[in-house]
Amino acid sequence: MQASIAYIRKELKDLYPDQEIEGLVRLIFSALRNYTPTDLLLKKNERLTPDEQLHLNEIVRRLKKHEPIQYILGETEFYSLPFQVTEDVLIPRPETEELVDWILKDLTIASPVILDVGTGSGCIPVSLKKFLPAAKVMGCDISEKALKVARANAGINQTEVAFFHLDILNPLLPATFPGLDILVSNPPYVTEKEKQLMQPNVLAHEPHSALFVPDEDPLVFYAALVRFGRQHLKKGGKLFWEINEAFGPACVHLLEENGFDNVQLKKDINGKNRMIAARYV
Ligand code: GLN
Repeated sequence: MQASIAYIRKELKDLYPDQEIEGLVRLIFSALRNYTPTDLLLKKNERLTPDEQLHLNEIVRRLKKHEPIQYILGETEFYSLPFQVTEDVLIPRPETEELVDWILKDLTIASPVILDVGTGSGCIPVSLKKFLPAAKVMGCDISEKALKVARANAGINQTEVAFFHLDILNPLLPATFPGLDILVSNPPYVTEKEKQLMQPNVLAHEPHSALFVPDEDPLVFYAALVRFGRQHLKKGGKLFWEINEAFGPACVHLLEENGFDNVQLKKDINGKNRMIAARYV
């Protein structure tokens, strides 16, 4: 594979930092041949087939246009599990892995009822279900295209998650909807003002409806989640959100004003207020 690796390095060297290129090399060979980094060393004298070569050329062509590698390969990893991704869903982020981790560590109920609102790729409910096989796990989204990806991901990971369509700003649910132990969400939380600070490849490829909120109403989804939580959480049930670090205090206030206690802010690996949990009383 030496020649192919040299080709990737040469084509990308002016466009990506060296360390990132090495990461891309690993992801590309994992997708093309299921190779581990060790395989890459051991099989360095092997050559790609003509079909694989064409595939590689196409990957490199798209990387040169700064398309995210996850969309090019159509897959990514989240919480050490494989997920399909298309441009209809946000690429799952490491910060969201921290949110899943927090929920798993915090849980004391053996078979909780869990709903993820704005599920996108389904990364949150699928990983929760994988580690909590006795839980009843659901995910909803306003986007039918996202739901299709989420259902595929439940299949890929052999988990049973019930996905359904819901507009959280105008939620219509069946009369028999179960009471929730956990309401989780990573809703859109980037303001239009912050848009200009975002990387061009995020802006060009990721779904804006999953990212942005209006400057004049940045907590619109959190307010809707509070209303929904007050209707559907069991007493003592908990809510877990990923948040914009700029709105930590505003989210604490919103929750405390609306019948939630035990409000906890949590920082992500970068030291930013990124998650919040609260209990419905
Ligand atoms: N729940 C999905 C994720 O965490 C999608 C979030 C979103 O689209 N805002 O990646």
